[in-house]
Amino acid sequence: MNFRKGCLPVTEFRKRYQDRERFIGYCQECPRYDTVWSCPPLDFNVDEYLDRFTWVNVVGAKVVLSAKVIDEADTAEKVKTVGWEIVSAVKLELEEKMRQLEKQVPGSVSLSSGGCNLCKECSRKEGKPCRMPEKMRYSLDAFGFDLSAITKDMLGIDILWCKDRLPEYFTLIHGLLSAEEMPEAAWDTTGWIFDVT
Ligand code: SF4
Repeated sequence: MNFRKGCLPVTEFRKRYQDRERFIGYCQECPRYDTVWSCPPLDFNVDEYLDRFTWVNVVGAKVVLSAKVIDEADTAEKVKTVGWEIVSAVKLELEEKMRQLEKQVPGSVSLSSGGCNLCKECSRKEGKPCRMPEKMRYSLDAFGFDLSAITKDMLGIDILWCKDRLPEYFTLIHGLLSAEEMPEAAWDTTGWIFDVT
C-alpha cells in the first residue's frame, strides 16, 4: 500500500468537486443509504459544517492486489467478499491514522471513505444515536464530492471498480478539514510513507 496527498482551500475544493444533487443521487441507490450515521442524508447543515474550515487535505491509499488474489476470487460472491475484506481493513487503518493526524492539527476533523463499519450493524437502523461519535467520521461521499475527479486530479490515481473480477488495485480517499494550513511536519508523526506522483 502506498499513499498520496494533496491540499486545497475548502472553497476551491467545493467549487471544483461538490455536486450534491448528482452524487447524493448515487448514494440513494446504495442499500446503505439512510442506514448508517456517516452516510447521507446527514442530519446537520452541510454548508455550516464545511464553512468552519479553510483547508481540505486529501490522502489516498492505493492498495495493489496480487495476481493470485485476483485470480482466486473467481466467483461474484468471492469478488464481493474479498473486495469488502480488503477495503474494510484498509479503511479502519486509515481512519486510525487520520484520527492521529487530527491530534497534530488542533481543530481539525477527518473525513472517511464510504460508510462507517465500526459496528456490525449501525444503530441508525434502530433510530438510535451513533454508538461511537468520538470515533465515527463522516464520509467524503456524504457531502456530495466527486471522488473519482478528486483522486485523479489531486492524487494522480484513476479509481478502478470491482466488476466481474477484482481490480488491479483499490483506492481509498480520506480527508482532513482544518482551519489552518497543515504543517508538513504533521504528516511525519503518523508514519505515512508517500509516493511521489
Ligand atoms: S460507529 Fe457504529 S453506530 Fe456509529 S455510525 Fe459507525 S456503525 Fe453506526
